[in-house]
Amino acid sequence: MPGCGEKLAKLTSGSQYDICMPGECMQMLSSGACITYNQNAGGCNRMLKVLLHGSCSYDCAYCPVRADRSGLAFSPRELAETFLGLYRKNLAGGLFLSSGIPYDTDDVMGELIESARILRNEGYAGYLHLKILPGARREDICEAARFADRISLNVETTGESRLRALSGIKDYAGDIMKRLGWIAEAAPGRHTTQLVIGAAGESDREIFDCVTSLYERMLPSRIYYSAFQALRKTRLESRDNTPAWRSRRWYQMDYLIREYGFSRAELMPLLEDCGTLKNDDPKALLARDREPVDPNVASFADLLHVPGIGTVTARAILEARESRTIRTPRDLGVSGACLKRALPYLAFSGTARQATLAGFS
Ligand code: SF4
Repeated sequence: MPGCGEKLAKLTSGSQYDICMPGECMQMLSSGACITYNQNAGGCNRMLKVLLHGSCSYDCAYCPVRADRSGLAFSPRELAETFLGLYRKNLAGGLFLSSGIPYDTDDVMGELIESARILRNEGYAGYLHLKILPGARREDICEAARFADRISLNVETTGESRLRALSGIKDYAGDIMKRLGWIAEAAPGRHTTQLVIGAAGESDREIFDCVTSLYERMLPSRIYYSAFQALRKTRLESRDNTPAWRSRRWYQMDYLIREYGFSRAELMPLLEDCGTLKNDDPKALLARDREPVDPNVASFADLLHVPGIGTVTARAILEARESRTIRTPRDLGVSGACLKRALPYLAFSGTARQATLAGFS
């Protein structure tokens, strides 16, 4: 019988394809377990990301868990105690718990919830993210939301026909979208989802429609994007990987939609006629077709359209112009790399031409 150390090593490596924080990296502990972290993230930045069950009876074509026949699994008690051991040694600050589905979905979902219940009963008050399984019952989703800080169900692809190319078992409307609606009700502002970019051959236009619809209807706090990787022993192992730039561009697009509120109409020109996103910074691409912005009169929304200017910088500029006319970059009251990016897109009152960095020195 494998011990908890061996299980931890295998079941943490099997969970790496779910994204739990932006810009995540992995660190291998001496025990062989993987800890996920992001040096730049505040709060909980050392996450134990682990599967309860390392094998699955579903048939998702890209998924290595499906190919695993080891039957390795934690019981809820084992999982809770193993995590608490790492937490108490300060090796992990939070838990992201997912699972393959080797048998009945309701039973496995019950085990995930039971793991969470044990942790909370043992006094664990730290970060806990629980995956919701496709087809989970509504009462289980509500129960998971009661124990977890965050819950998530991966949408994986853009619609029924695309999902059919990946799985003959999962049903997009029922197992995924219906459950996403229940999740949105059970955990408002505390749920996420993930798309595997390119797994089903979906175009960026389809992804764009899917993402904007999800943000409008399901209100996830964010959407994660993983570039499809053709992993060994999966049904798609002979396919080409999706280039990493494509998921990077989707994170940039996502930011424009989610954080800056760019409209569909504004973003549509970023898609070429064939429905593909260009491999370029989408905000810079849009700005190239716009008139330079005068920081003395620009609205908050207009300032957000300038590459290098985010919400913090835009607010700083609005504050600065209350006390002075902005004639030079120095008057903006902001500095740094963001300003270098912004200057080509700014025009200052009373100046005949755009500002340059020379005017800032
Ligand atoms: S449901 Fe699909 S994606 Fe999830 S573990 Fe099973 S095979 Fe993998």
